Amino acid sequence: MLNLVLFGPPGAGKGTQSEKLISKYQLIHISTGDLFRAHIKHQTALGKRVSALIAEGELVPDEITIAMLEEEADKNPQANGFIFDGFPRTVPQAKALDDFLESKGSAIAGVIALDVDQEELTKRIAQRQLETGRVDDQADKLKKRIEEYFDKTIHVLPYYEAQGKLSKVNGIGKIDDIFNALCAQVDQHQK
Ligand code: AMP
Repeated sequence: MLNLVLFGPPGAGKGTQSEKLISKYQLIHISTGDLFRAHIKHQTALGKRVSALIAEGELVPDEITIAMLEEEADKNPQANGFIFDGFPRTVPQAKALDDFLESKGSAIAGVIALDVDQEELTKRIAQRQLETGRVDDQADKLKKRIEEYFDKTIHVLPYYEAQGKLSKVNGIGKIDDIFNALCAQVDQHQK
């Protein structure tokens, strides 16, 4: 199995690049943000539980997020592999993912971090807010999301670095150039 984590702050381009990677490598895309938004849209019990947190730009508690992710992965037992997008966002999530994959006789092949500076991120998210109207892309909520990123999520990087699985790709430039750089990293992790 080829299991990848696409890592980066809000607005780094994880969603866009995941879409391209899944079609090239025939992987299943699991975006915890997309899953939460679908639950909120369909007003499920889980959606009702998490909607206020998400609207405020806060992280959803680990137990809820991990359970949702595992349930989603279990829907695809025949997958060639997964791209995890927006997960893990905390070190306990990263450990839970390792344990989960190990229980299936699998593991994370590589973690690719998209590197984008703060100024560019703010610009991109302002644009996305105009296009999609996502409430958590509004400036004050975005500030909280970026705080959560630097407070909790950034610590996931050394966790994977210690396992020798981390690589970084410049996330600024043309979408196709970034995609080619990502593919070069994926091919390294596949060897
Ligand atoms: P995203 O679309 O990945 O930016 O996620 C949108 C929001 O969903 C985040 O700001 C969090 O509130 C929540 N969320 C998504 N993934 C996670 C995660 N792995 N852990 C906790 N909360 C998450």
